[in-house]
Amino acid sequence: MPRSLLITRIGELVTNTPDGTVPASAEPTGVAPANTAKPAGTAQPGGTAQPSGPGGSFAAIGDAALVIEDGWIAWTGPAAQAPAADEVVDAAGRAVLPGFADSHAHLVFAGERSAEFAARMAGRKYTAGGIRTTVAATRAASDAELRAGLGRLAGEMLAQGSTTFECKSGYGLTVPDEARAVALAAEITGEVTYLGAHVVPAEFAGDPGGYVDLVCGPMLDACAPHCRWADVFCERGAFGADEARAVLTAGLGRGLLPRIHASQLGPGPGIVLAVEIGAASADHCTFLTDADVDALASSDTVATLLPGAEFSTRQPYPDARRLLDAGATVALATDCNPGTSYTTSMPFCIALAVRDMRMTTEEAVWSATAGGARALRRTDIGYLAPGARADLIILDAPSHAHLAYRPGVPLIHAVYKSGRRVG
Ligand SMILES: [Zn+2]
Repeated sequence: MPRSLLITRIGELVTNTPDGTVPASAEPTGVAPANTAKPAGTAQPGGTAQPSGPGGSFAAIGDAALVIEDGWIAWTGPAAQAPAADEVVDAAGRAVLPGFADSHAHLVFAGERSAEFAARMAGRKYTAGGIRTTVAATRAASDAELRAGLGRLAGEMLAQGSTTFECKSGYGLTVPDEARAVALAAEITGEVTYLGAHVVPAEFAGDPGGYVDLVCGPMLDACAPHCRWADVFCERGAFGADEARAVLTAGLGRGLLPRIHASQLGPGPGIVLAVEIGAASADHCTFLTDADVDALASSDTVATLLPGAEFSTRQPYPDARRLLDAGATVALATDCNPGTSYTTSMPFCIALAVRDMRMTTEEAVWSATAGGARALRRTDIGYLAPGARADLIILDAPSHAHLAYRPGVPLIHAVYKSGRRVG
């Protein structure tokens, strides 16, 4: 791999950059300060620059270029001012965006549930018990089968522009099956989440407290070495506030940072709990109380919206506008899982968010990139400026807006991860 790569003639460069933000509509040349800082040292020994993380809102420059050095963004600015590099890629007017950061996905499972989906579309109501179907299939699968499924879904993610994705356990629900799930997930991502508290398995139906003890004890011990995060499905029919608090507190005790499934099927205590416990993200947020909105808006907890779930269950979409207007930070993620959102496509979620959740195209793209980075507490991704990892996508389109404007069309022209072309 050459040491430096210049991508030039970029029609629209989405930077989400925390300084020198320039609206896409502004005059492209001479407005954006050409950032000439040294390339980020971030995780590299001896580096000097620290990643600043994405800024709080969408920003882009027209007629732009960027330089990648050793896997990191070294320079961004007007194409006319771009420095020389060892290799040049001509973007020919295409848009360049940060790679998507999908902060919510359940990828370790066996089987599929298309019959359940078809029945639901025909008018039957979704119940959380459907998870148990996948649990049975997952327990019966070999490691090789699970690894193959995981690899296939990870490939789909990357091909559709998600250069970072989170992956949860939660379809094993025994100590060895959960430990196997997080170990397999750790083979393909650093963002592994322990979700032993996905649902109470059938064998504990008469003793949910006993299952919570298992989740907080031996199962956590077996899973923690492979995980960065702990999660809990705080919902009627799954786990209540006290149980969720116990699970997340136990996770914190083992160094696992909290995140939560909250208020997907109805209003509940999960969002306020997430803020109380300092969770990075409260996910779903479909049924919001005023207290929930206030809590999110006055905290660092990201509201992660998962429109693929509402699409696939024919529920009302979460009220993104209410959250944004209140000042909450919003992320978009796929929730890829075989029961309620079997999509790996962030472009699809962006289109839904714009069309049906009243997010602007800029807000939706920010939420799918910078918002996901914040939901994963990452400062090295979600933006394109010196200090950022060179995780980016080139669209076969001149503007980010085409992701929603041309729904269902494969617009990902190229994918780079740490400066290397991977798709
Ligand atoms: Zn989920």
